[in-house]
Amino acid sequence: MSTMNTVGRPTAPNQVQTKPATLTGGRGLLQNEALIFEGDGWGKTGVDLPEPKTDGSDLGDLIRKDPIGLPGLSEPETMRHYVRLSQKNHAIDLAIYPLGSCTMKHNPRLNEKMARLPGFSDIHPLQPISTVQGALELMDALAHWLKTLTGMPAVALSPKAGAHGELCGLMAIRAAHEASGQHEKRRKVLVPTSAHGTNPATAAFVGYSVVEVAQTEDGRVDVADLASKLGDDVAAIMVTNPNTCGLFERDILEISRLTHEAGAYFYCDGANFNAIVGRVRPGDLGVDAMHINLHKTFSTPHGGGGPGAGPVVLSEALAPFAPAPWVVHDEGGYRLIEREEEEAEQAFGRLCAFQGQMGMYTRALSYMMSHGADGLRQVAEDAVLNANYIKARLGDLMSAAFPDGPCMHEALFDDEWLKGTDITTLDFAKAMIDEGFHPMTMYFPLVVHGAMLIEPTETESKAELDRFIEAMRALATAAKAGDVDRFKGAPFHAPLKRLDETRAARSPVLRWTAPEGSNKAA
Ligand SMILES: *Cc1c(COP(=O)(O)O)cnc(C)c1O
Repeated sequence: MSTMNTVGRPTAPNQVQTKPATLTGGRGLLQNEALIFEGDGWGKTGVDLPEPKTDGSDLGDLIRKDPIGLPGLSEPETMRHYVRLSQKNHAIDLAIYPLGSCTMKHNPRLNEKMARLPGFSDIHPLQPISTVQGALELMDALAHWLKTLTGMPAVALSPKAGAHGELCGLMAIRAAHEASGQHEKRRKVLVPTSAHGTNPATAAFVGYSVVEVAQTEDGRVDVADLASKLGDDVAAIMVTNPNTCGLFERDILEISRLTHEAGAYFYCDGANFNAIVGRVRPGDLGVDAMHINLHKTFSTPHGGGGPGAGPVVLSEALAPFAPAPWVVHDEGGYRLIEREEEEAEQAFGRLCAFQGQMGMYTRALSYMMSHGADGLRQVAEDAVLNANYIKARLGDLMSAAFPDGPCMHEALFDDEWLKGTDITTLDFAKAMIDEGFHPMTMYFPLVVHGAMLIEPTETESKAELDRFIEAMRALATAAKAGDVDRFKGAPFHAPLKRLDETRAARSPVLRWTAPEGSNKAA
């Protein structure tokens, strides 16, 4: 099959490496952009303000002696600076974001419109309760949807991310063991080897020691190993379902039965809930606590450090320990139960100052209501269908990590198929950037060698999936044909090449300092 036509443009294999760098650092109608502080916006300003009449003497010693040190730019200069920067970035509005384990959704415009309604966006957490009845009703409705979809009796809305939700769940579990006098002996949390790093980190943070549970050949929890490690020294298990290999835990009922028999609680990492929403209710599986990443399953913005939200649903046994606040509804309308009040006697405390991420609540509820119950089931079905389409269409060229049977919402490949090519998963991912595609998640889960975890989500059309698949096939074919330079030198077309990612993470430079002798210092 000719991949060139479907991908849409020839890749000119022999010209890529020899292309000269441009003279300015610009590329294809995109100019190189310096930091805003490095430009020449000094000593000028974008607005005309009259000189202040006061001499500032009221401030005494506190008066600023040096220039404020902010660059001055006109409106078009400002716009250009930020638009140029934004064009160096990938965005879900540009193309597929195939990161597995992240569920990078589109962010429906309707959600944004709802979140900007003044009754939700222009309110203050300390406003009198009578003036925010609508916002509280929205939180109550969201709680209702989350409880209904999961089949669980209680939910703590306030955690601000998945990892924060894990903290919430484990603190509720610890509070329950404390209440029953078992905390001293139950010091262990069992976590499968394939777990997301936040699981063992959270357990350790709450003061537990982490014990690993082995995985079977086919990528599931090894139930025999789990059973052998369960005992009256175990506080909880943390299992992701569907798991981080993109597979449904077939023995989930047995896992929860064994866990409860041992007197431990079942924490489910619900980051992958989008694969089963509307089809499976975690409450029916025996789950005691599960976080739901609204920024994964329910379409609220995710990247760029924006706020997340990780509500935690709780079973009957854990509900009394849920953190404050929560919304109740009685004759007087909606109100918040805070820690001091009697109803929250057993609450383990609170996780944040106020009520959580109002904007995310609004977006998530907007997504739920616009889909309806049947629409959400369709979301799960389409997400799984899309991932299986990718698995099926790449499976002949690339090696699926667990080839037998279908996957859930993400397709996982290993690097077996690259053996003998001298090309690594990282090289392959960098070459994807040259072809216009954001790479998939790499080297996670750790239990799969050279892992490539691809998650399309339900939002990609068949045409978009085919475009992605043809690019992947073209690259895989080039890799197998020994076109090593294309991969080793990649990315050739990105503004920055191979970065020292370890150093960037370990010693980030977060503050701009003026060069020696410059008059730009603050
Ligand atoms: C994303 C994710 C988390 C952590 O969620 P955050 O919202 O990023 O804190 C935990 N577990 C799994 C499996 C995830 O995919």
